[in-house]
Amino acid sequence: MVGQSQASKRICHLHGVGPGWHPLLLRLHEELLTVSPGYSVQQVKEKYGTLRIYLLTGLLRHLHEGGDMWPEPHEADRYKQEDDAAKLLVHAAEQESATICEYCGNPGQARERFWIKTLCDDCNACR
Ligand SMILES: [Zn+2]
Repeated sequence: MVGQSQASKRICHLHGVGPGWHPLLLRLHEELLTVSPGYSVQQVKEKYGTLRIYLLTGLLRHLHEGGDMWPEPHEADRYKQEDDAAKLLVHAAEQESATICEYCGNPGQARERFWIKTLCDDCNACR
């Protein structure tokens, strides 16, 4: 990771899921930058056919980055707002992923075969 910008590190996590969900993740990335410019990604993965996104925002990020001082009350409020806004965005993206084919990005639904994937008819047929 040495020499990589914060932004490219965040985008690296796209590779944890299929390309059909990449536009959704890129849009989420843009949205997150507006509420939590310094956010970082712990993990992006697929579970039971939908996205699971784990972020460090707000207070957690502050502590994770070695902030040894407990934030001032006004700062803590700001962190809480940042956390809440980021959680809403992540939740919306996770919900939306259940309707998008993970392979190609067409409208999809959960398919259960050996494991659950959200796919369109075409991609489900060629699995
Ligand atoms: Zn598809």
